[in-house]
Amino acid sequence: MSIKENHKRIKDNIENAIRRSNRENDVTLIAVTKQVDVDTAQEIKNEGIIHLGENRFESLFNKQDEIQGVNWHFIGSLQTRKVKEVINRIDYLHSLDRLSLAEEIQKRAENPIKCFVQVNVSGEESKHGLNPDAVIGFIRSISELDKIQVIGLMTMAPFTEDEQIIRASFNGLKKLQQEIKNLHILNAPCTELSMGMSNDYEIAIEEGATFIRIGTSLVQKG
Ligand SMILES: *Cc1c(COP(=O)(O)O)cnc(C)c1O
Repeated sequence: MSIKENHKRIKDNIENAIRRSNRENDVTLIAVTKQVDVDTAQEIKNEGIIHLGENRFESLFNKQDEIQGVNWHFIGSLQTRKVKEVINRIDYLHSLDRLSLAEEIQKRAENPIKCFVQVNVSGEESKHGLNPDAVIGFIRSISELDKIQVIGLMTMAPFTEDEQIIRASFNGLKKLQQEIKNLHILNAPCTELSMGMSNDYEIAIEEGATFIRIGTSLVQKG
């Protein structure tokens, strides 16, 4: 299948999931281009997808040299010492998960940066992100940092085939997002949810995702 065909299938699935979930919010498709070369990323952009996601800065910079006019999402974990190089070249950061990172962003960012606080809903040790219980305290602790704008929460679902477990973790993130939104913290409007990947984006949309991050099912050939 070509990228065009994959994109069409994904768009149909997104629309159907939106319809099933009885909601009006838009869903923004982020094409995760970490597995593909610059030409393929360019092809994705030519398909009209204007949000691209990368998880390593080398690969981000390579693509930025060639591809203009897209919104860049950094979806990988970001080392504090790399903030200086990366932060003014991206539009969204999906992996804010600690105070030291927030403070470094405050120091280095030229403009406020749209951030998702990454939450480890499943508690799996292999995953980055804050424990759900720690998220509100963390967001309060960075409320004075005006270069940080917490637009929402991000998570990766647990590794399981069990749809109920995946659904419950997305639903848990949604509840937490609404709780934070209702705190009306100035730099944390927290209206967005970045959740859902190739295997689970339809469930994520049904549970309220506003940004989905899709790599494999967009670029697969088979
Ligand atoms: C790789 C990656 C994705 C995309 O995953 P696919 O299963 O290929 O769609 C989404 N989010 C993050 C954080 C990733 O690292």
